[in-house]
Amino acid sequence: MVYHRAMNDPLLNEPFVRLFVGTLIGLVLGSFTTMLSYRLPRTMSIIAPPSTCPSCGTRLTPRDLIPVVSWLIGRGRCRHCGAPIGARYVMIELVTTVAIAAAFVLLGFSLALLLTLIALVAVITALTIYCERRDPR
Ligand SMILES: [Zn+2]
Repeated sequence: MVYHRAMNDPLLNEPFVRLFVGTLIGLVLGSFTTMLSYRLPRTMSIIAPPSTCPSCGTRLTPRDLIPVVSWLIGRGRCRHCGAPIGARYVMIELVTTVAIAAAFVLLGFSLALLLTLIALVAVITALTIYCERRDPR
């Protein structure tokens, strides 16, 4: 087994460091997963348009896009038009974040981790799209 030298840094192998980095990356990927599961079934570009409120169309600023935190501060409503934002999006973000943080702690910084992250995002996105089709809300 050949590991990059940085991967053997003892600091990166501290469980607390793994949990911290895993949570941060989990939040980012959780947002990404939420965006994918919303846009893919609607055949929207996943790159081009910046995120907007589905109700009022206001372009969302970084302040609106802090995962989970923005939703809690706004009490589940759009800051601009007051339209409710489904709690399910926060659930997807939370589930993704927890799963990814766990993967970081269990696997450490490795190729297995990278593959697991890709698989988690793909599976959670697919499950979300599947559930929405069966039970549109
Ligand atoms: Zn709005």
